[in-house]
Amino acid sequence: ADIAMYEAKSRRGNALCFFDPSMQVALSTRAQLLADLKQALPEGQFRLHLQPQFDAAGQLTGAEALLRWQHPQRGLVAPGAFIAVAEDSELIVPIGRWVLETACALLARWQREPALRELGLSVNVSQRQFRQADFVGMVGECLAASGARAHRLELELTESLVLEDVNDSIAKMHLLRTRGVRFAVDDFGTGYSSLAYLTRLPLHRLKIDRSFVQQLGESHSDDVVVQTILGMACNLELDVVAEGVETQQQYDFLVAHGCGGYQGYLFARPMPVEDFEALAAGQGGTGPAPP
Ligand code: C2E
Ligand code: MG
Ligand code: MG
Ligand code: MG
Repeated sequence: ADIAMYEAKSRRGNALCFFDPSMQVALSTRAQLLADLKQALPEGQFRLHLQPQFDAAGQLTGAEALLRWQHPQRGLVAPGAFIAVAEDSELIVPIGRWVLETACALLARWQREPALRELGLSVNVSQRQFRQADFVGMVGECLAASGARAHRLELELTESLVLEDVNDSIAKMHLLRTRGVRFAVDDFGTGYSSLAYLTRLPLHRLKIDRSFVQQLGESHSDDVVVQTILGMACNLELDVVAEGVETQQQYDFLVAHGCGGYQGYLFARPMPVEDFEALAAGQGGTGPAPP
């Protein structure tokens, strides 16, 4: 209910309405959210959950790191309820740095474990965080301080983030790519972009947005969009991950059309780090057989 309230508020914008009691509750809730969020980092309330990623053969290839907030009263809060507020307030900069430090520390630890050493880890980057003048240096520091191998780290950028300042994006991406860091375009297909920019970016993967995966095999237009993305990625020599795969029907369609990477509830939900490591170790790096 609290999450719904936060979201209701953000959709209504900043208009004040003193006579609507529900609105007043929402306003104080957002203010409270921001106050709580400021405490979350110093109080150590953030967690990373990991959602496994598989290849077409059912082999575990890595995970996406998804931020969770262990709120003292509200319990585990998903990013949809607080990332936007964190971005508005610039709190996203130290929070995003914490995510990268934590992810790099994990990668460094995995390097010493035979069952985990080949796994990759993807980290979401927000626009305000990426635009920081020292973003490249910050990522470099996280890698150096942890000893993580850069090519195991993938940064997920959205199309709108990249296009908001293409020259800045290209410059930063090339600097990091030179160090070995990989890049994926997150939520691919939902942006407004011309595709021309794709060839100018040092990209490794496209992540097909969940909204196109949802109705695969049922919606002709979504079938066409996904086939087109897969064909284009093949021509551009980019890997693909399908996000939000929930059903056998979706999975069958994607396999039949040559999709190489899979992430979704059909395979595994985001889980605490220990559970992910147990899954990877217990199966010798092999995930559940493809359904
Ligand atoms: P995203 O990067 O597109 O992450 C995928 C989201 O889809 C995750 O939601 C994941 O739990 C959800 N998901 C995965 N498989 C399925 C499925 O089969 N069905 C459905 N219905 N959902 C699925 P989550 O964890 O709530 O994260 C939401 C968004 O918050 C992320 O979307 C990302 O944009 C943002 N986010 C998460 N962690 C971070 C972070 O560390 N930093 C930043 N800047 N943003 C983050
Ligand atoms: Mg993502
Ligand atoms: Mg996504
Ligand atoms: Mg997203």
